[in-house]
Amino acid sequence: MTNYDTIIIGAGPAGIQAGLFLGRAQVKTILIGMPEKGALAYGKIISNYFGLPDDPPGLTLLQNGVEQLKRCGSEFLRDEVVDLKQSKDGFEVTTATLKIFNSKTVIIATGAYIPSAGIRGEKNFLGKGVHTCVACDGPLFKKKKVAVVGNGPHAAEEALELATFTDKITIYSQGSPWEIGEALLAKLKEKNIPLSDKRITEVAGAPLLKSAKFSDGAEEAFEGLFLALGTAGGTTFSNKLGLEQKDGFIKIDKDGKTSVKGVWAAGGVTGGNLQISKSVGDGCNAAISIIRTLKGIENYVDQT
Ligand SMILES: Cc1cc2nc3c(=O)[nH]c(=O)nc-3n(C[C@H](O)[C@H](O)[C@H](O)COP(=O)(O)OP(=O)(O)OC[C@H]3O[C@@H](n4cnc5c(N)ncnc54)[C@H](O)[C@@H]3O)c2cc1C
Repeated sequence: MTNYDTIIIGAGPAGIQAGLFLGRAQVKTILIGMPEKGALAYGKIISNYFGLPDDPPGLTLLQNGVEQLKRCGSEFLRDEVVDLKQSKDGFEVTTATLKIFNSKTVIIATGAYIPSAGIRGEKNFLGKGVHTCVACDGPLFKKKKVAVVGNGPHAAEEALELATFTDKITIYSQGSPWEIGEALLAKLKEKNIPLSDKRITEVAGAPLLKSAKFSDGAEEAFEGLFLALGTAGGTTFSNKLGLEQKDGFIKIDKDGKTSVKGVWAAGGVTGGNLQISKSVGDGCNAAISIIRTLKGIENYVDQT
């Protein structure tokens, strides 16, 4: 277990910018994320961010940013965070490869992207059998038959948490290749949670979810379905820590502070304009606020 002053979750513009400032200020920082999985990695040509010599693809900015962050003194770990919780002295973060880190402060910079499973009816049953957060709604499914939809570590982590309440769980990849590492696979095996490549195409019931249909035409009874595609994002962490939200985004003050002491948030995860400049500004604000808090320097500026 390693201790940090700050753990940043998410290697997009917001997280990387925060890491630059924190590293330069000698705040012991690690950034955990996968740059190629963020929104900007999909941008083919970036022309509205200042100072670029030509119009590079978004991925180039991200790769350059990670190298710059390391030069500034912050650490970078290519991994995915699957759990974030409060600990005695701050926060404990667990990654998909089951590495555990502790920190005094956290910045959530996981972006705004929330993938849909493309299941017909999934939106109609939200909160009525279809759910997105086991920490919030898992207890509703004691001893009930539940599907978890997702192909990565986030789905595995949600299923393991659900196993506290029921032993009737299957994880469905929707036909996507499995991206769950060996450590989590072993835990799933221990709990007898099976993985299925089958694709759920439709959910049905009235008014609560009763069944799911598969692409091969089969239909099976289910009382719950948890959407756990992609990574554990801002909403997952926000719900776990009990952060105040507004319109589905994490609520922050002008310094990027959330409603829970020690937790900052930055970028798309806090709503507003979905632009690089906005996220970079948020990352800068959060980092300077942390530097001021941890070092007790009220008027900190970085102008060397
Ligand atoms: C196709 C496309 C083109 C775009 N073009 C432009 C443009 O030209 N100009 C512009 O200003 N903006 C553009 N944008 C928008 C811009 O990319 C976003 O506004 C910006 O990237 C948001 O930055 P962010 O750091 O807040 O979030 P993101 O860039 O989404 O980064 C969040 C990061 O967190 C990671 N993450 C999420 N969950 C976890 C977890 N559990 N553990 C670890 N990491 C996690 C994600 O994988 C991602 O790497 C474009 C977006 C798209 C999709």
